[in-house]
Amino acid sequence: MISMTGVAKWYGAFQALNDINISVRKGEKIVLCGPSGSGKSTLIRCINHLEAYQKGEIRVGGILLGHQAKSIDAVRREVGMVFQQFNLFPHLTVLQNCMLAPMRALGLGKAEAEGRARQLLERVKIAEQAEKYPAQLSGGQQQRVAIARALCMRPQVMLFDEPTSALDPEMVKEVLDTMIDLAREGMTMICVTHEMGFARQVADRVIFMASGGIIEEAPPAEFFSDPKHERTRKFLGEIL
Ligand code: ATP
Ligand code: MG
Repeated sequence: MISMTGVAKWYGAFQALNDINISVRKGEKIVLCGPSGSGKSTLIRCINHLEAYQKGEIRVGGILLGHQAKSIDAVRREVGMVFQQFNLFPHLTVLQNCMLAPMRALGLGKAEAEGRARQLLERVKIAEQAEKYPAQLSGGQQQRVAIARALCMRPQVMLFDEPTSALDPEMVKEVLDTMIDLAREGMTMICVTHEMGFARQVADRVIFMASGGIIEEAPPAEFFSDPKHERTRKFLGEIL
């Protein structure tokens, strides 16, 4: 579903990603972790070309992600993204937030976009907030709207970049539960998160990054009980 082969990225002279090789099968759930500055956000932002990469190859659902607008648009249609800061449009209601991209990018009619949006708001258990504006919602509710909004594009893959780190502790669970539901329904997911309970419960594989490279990857049981690399052990010692 997603393959990254020999991907490298520089910000000016600074190399942020170095020889990244990842292959994610349909329905697989990957948790990506690692210290601050290790390149996790950069890596997932490359997958939908929010960041350009300079070397290697990225494929999503068979589409080669080149640097032309046409292939970038084709890939973005397949990839939903949820950020730490929810990035909802403040001047649009929850419902309008969810209807915008399907109407603009997929050409859905208003009624169809609304039907889809209401259905997905129902699925993230927030249907009754549809007419509110983002500022009128809690952080956890806003993040669930952001998830519903991404799902309205019917993506093949969902990318999450620390979706719970900006939330008050009591709201983390409702967002994680939404992600767990999505995982159970078979969505292909790459999640940058330090929620190791979530990783144990949901991930097929945990990938650990440091200094722009992949240091090790393993199923969660093995990753947590028997980390192979010194840097992984140090990291786990700090966060667990
Ligand atoms: P965090 O856990 O803090 O979110 P991260 O693993 O997501 O960290 P990235 O945001 O991918 O790390 O950053 C990787 C490296 O690239 C860091 O050293 C960062 O300073 C650098 N970097 C990120 N974005 C830019 C940018 N736009 N311009 C220059 N350097 C950048
Ligand atoms: Mg980051």
